[in-house]
Amino acid sequence: MNLLVSGAGIAGLACARELGGRGHRVTVVEHAPALRLTGTPIDIRGDAIHTVHRMGLLPQIRKHRIRMSEHTHFVDSAGRPVARLPLAEIGDSDDDVELLREDLLRILADALPATATIRFGDSVAALTDDGHGVDVRFTSGRTGRYDLVLGADGQHSTVRRLVFGPEAEHLRHLGVYLALADHPRAAGGEGPNAIHNVPGRMAGLFRYGGKAVAVFQFRSEAIEYDHRDPDAQKEILADAFAGHRSWRIPELLDAARADPAFFLTSASQIHLPAWHRGRVALVGDAGYSPAFLSGRGTSLALTGAHFLAEELEHAEEREHADHTAAFTRYETRQRPYVRFAQGRAHLGRDRMLPPTWDAMAARDEALRGAAPSDAGEITL
Ligand SMILES: Cc1cc2nc3c(=O)[nH]c(=O)nc-3n(C[C@H](O)[C@H](O)[C@H](O)COP(=O)(O)OP(=O)(O)OC[C@H]3O[C@@H](n4cnc5c(N)ncnc54)[C@H](O)[C@@H]3O)c2cc1C
Repeated sequence: MNLLVSGAGIAGLACARELGGRGHRVTVVEHAPALRLTGTPIDIRGDAIHTVHRMGLLPQIRKHRIRMSEHTHFVDSAGRPVARLPLAEIGDSDDDVELLREDLLRILADALPATATIRFGDSVAALTDDGHGVDVRFTSGRTGRYDLVLGADGQHSTVRRLVFGPEAEHLRHLGVYLALADHPRAAGGEGPNAIHNVPGRMAGLFRYGGKAVAVFQFRSEAIEYDHRDPDAQKEILADAFAGHRSWRIPELLDAARADPAFFLTSASQIHLPAWHRGRVALVGDAGYSPAFLSGRGTSLALTGAHFLAEELEHAEEREHADHTAAFTRYETRQRPYVRFAQGRAHLGRDRMLPPTWDAMAARDEALRGAAPSDAGEITL
């Protein structure tokens, strides 16, 4: 088949690897000019470990494993550690692999078969499904016809909007934003990774792989903004921390202002009754974002891509390539994982972002007194 994948994130690259590896011709279009490598370390958890094993990628993934969460402290305004970050389900090495998002992206991109290509700087502008194929017009002006189109273009998916309707009908905001920025001047420094809270907000500095990253989270009602306009997003962050100058907050905000790859996202879930319509299906955050607070978005993207590719293969063997049957079985296999992940998204929020000074002091006290296994889960 001739397949189009929108988005070269974890879900899109995993689809390209899995479907290209089964002999299909796959074109991936990514609107950014290159792979978007920003991001804190991510986790591959539970059955997604089995998935990357089936994909033949587990040895490389294990080679890039880090244990960043083991060395992270909450600090006060003078930078003194006040409590340790509880480990997020770490301990059983077979059940959780933490690695840099950029390493996972590179592993997937390097593993693409010759049948898969990525076209950067382009995206879907319009698509028409006539029942036998999908005609696509791209923002570059190109056109193409594909047997199937997969929307792997993230939380604010264009494919979802074009085929399933406006974002507002599917997106549930959980009241938290995350922002990330490279902080090259801090890369050579020392000390544990640090998180500093003020009510309803956290700012953190993380070092790994020779880099330093400024991380921010803050509570907020949903904010309307242009997802492609980094300057507008930097202003949202600056507003959220206006008047807060303790610890290294001003320095971290400066790093955010200076970073061209600055990234802001909301903790939002996507809920859809079905992830396929006609010859179009959604994979990863586009179809079922669990929100970053769940710590499971990457795992869902991997299992989703793998199940979809397997089911299309089975359908070819059994049912004369009936893509509808394959899409339906993909959903049946993936739904339980999505339900589980979306159900966990609220767990860490109160601990990462205590709403008041009193709540913060109580959190620190509880973390100091708790055995690691009782401390609960917090996901960055
Ligand atoms: C830059 C970046 C940084 C991230 N950092 C973190 C993090 O620190 N912690 C965390 O938990 N999660 C992070 N995430 C989200 C996390 O990667 C996903 O939740 C998870 O891996 C599922 O991946 P996905 O491929 O479904 O979505 P995404 O990772 O969001 O990938 C979607 C891809 O589609 C591209 N895209 C979007 N719209 C279009 C379009 N119209 N046409 C073509 N391409 C399009 C995007 O540029 C992106 O490359 C980040 C995502 C991005 C894009």
